[in-house]
Amino acid sequence: MSFLEPGESPSWPSPTMATRSDRTRGKQGAKTSRWTRQEAAEEGEPPGRGEGSPPRPAASSSGLEATFLKTTPLAQAAPLAWAGTPPAGWDFLQPDYAISAVGSSTDELELSLELPVTAAGEWELEDLVDERAAPCPSPKALLPTLGWDDELQKPGAQVYMHFMQEHTCYDAMATSSKLVIFDTMLEIKKAFFALVANGVRAAPLWDSRKQSFVGMLTITDFILVLHRYYKSPLVQIYEIEEHKIETWREIYLQGCFKPLVSISPNDSLFEAVYALTKNRIHRLPVLDPTSGAVLHILTHKRLLKFLHIFGALLPQPSFLARTIQELGIGTFRDLAVVQETAPVLTALDIFVDRRVSALPVVNETGLVVGLYSRFDVIHLAAQKTYNHLDMSVGEALRMRTLCLEGVLCCQPHETLGEIIDRIAREQVHRLVLVDETQHLLGVISLSDILQALVLSPAGIDALGA
Ligand code: ADP
Ligand code: ADP
Ligand code: AMP
Repeated sequence: MSFLEPGESPSWPSPTMATRSDRTRGKQGAKTSRWTRQEAAEEGEPPGRGEGSPPRPAASSSGLEATFLKTTPLAQAAPLAWAGTPPAGWDFLQPDYAISAVGSSTDELELSLELPVTAAGEWELEDLVDERAAPCPSPKALLPTLGWDDELQKPGAQVYMHFMQEHTCYDAMATSSKLVIFDTMLEIKKAFFALVANGVRAAPLWDSRKQSFVGMLTITDFILVLHRYYKSPLVQIYEIEEHKIETWREIYLQGCFKPLVSISPNDSLFEAVYALTKNRIHRLPVLDPTSGAVLHILTHKRLLKFLHIFGALLPQPSFLARTIQELGIGTFRDLAVVQETAPVLTALDIFVDRRVSALPVVNETGLVVGLYSRFDVIHLAAQKTYNHLDMSVGEALRMRTLCLEGVLCCQPHETLGEIIDRIAREQVHRLVLVDETQHLLGVISLSDILQALVLSPAGIDALGA
């Protein structure tokens, strides 16, 4: 059933629904956007900058406390020049062509889940350092963090910040993508199975009493449920069988109001990066300001892909040629890791305690041998093995059917440009930084890259705040 057909009632009748959010439905947002631009032009705003920014609110979430520095001298600089047409293979509508295009291509970033898994364990890096011969050298010594601050003083360092301020969420939406929405009255077990069955990573939650979207259901929520209710392989997790999403949210949130973080298609991509980073979330629904319908779910991957494709048409800032060692972008201390022999339950504990999106997996000598991400936990639902959290992480990784082989790494001597190319090409959320002997040095996540390229030039540290 399609939710976003024009004129359709905003009442969502069935608990689990798959829909296609194709670009024609996004046209309502597009029209708003175009109208606003025209209006802005009539009011004398320079064309091509701000996309009607004066009347546009910041991200619509009340959880987002953003005041964006749009009036800084940097933000007032000349608009970016588009040097040509985008490369082939893109599924974004080039902003200037957005209104006339009727897209049907699918969102390449959409996940195709297939699934098997198994379980096992962890170790914080600090413990490793304490108990064995320093598998991770002090990153502080290795990776000076001042390099990036120096780079930000150079001309052209704000090019990506400007670019993201100039373009709207509408511009980065896929021409077509699958969207799955859950009613909060759906049982949680069915919801997680439905994520798997539909091959999506997250779903907006519709509260039919409030007639509005109230949150997201993500793989992190599956982890939280397991973490809270799992006892042993011999005890069935009856809460997973019995609870509705609403019940779980009431128990988990304990009455504290945690609003949906969302954004309008007319808001800038800069605001989208800020909303994701500041709220430490990985899914940002784009809501039609008129109907309240979900048009798309933006992610760091989507934003980086947009920047990677269209950023190639911009003047290249000098920092792309500097090495990670020089720039110090990423996390290099207090790394959360897991041993390949540890139980999956231990990995879940770390995900919950540390709120990190993935754990480098190390062997008994401290070498990085894999990566266990929050995404991989959904295999437990796919394989109905969530009652066996005593299996090792190594076993869990081996039981995945469709996955990347090994671990995608980078080294300190590689340039930021090379790292961005690799992370965009491989469509993963992070690379693991290792030395030449495969010992762990750090994690470079899309959050770090977007913070550095887009927010830091505006003087915002949303990641560290
Ligand atoms: P994952 O990386 O597993 O997709 P997230 O980091 O996006 O998960 O989610 C972390 C927590 O924040 C989860 O409990 C999820 O329900 C919640 N969450 C995710 N996106 C949003 C959002 N847009 N608004 C409010 N809560 C969200
Ligand atoms: P998400 O889009 O939910 O953030 P991730 O990128 O975290 O997804 O994970 C998607 C898949 O890619 C998972 O199976 C994960 O283990 C794998 N993966 C992610 N990053 C790496 C990496 N650096 N090396 C190897 N596999 C990775
Ligand atoms: P992410 O959750 O991947 O979007 O990243 C948010 C922040 O956590 C970034 O600064 C990452 O570098 C950092 N981070 C990601 N994974 C780890 C990890 N395993 N240990 C420590 N920090 C991490």
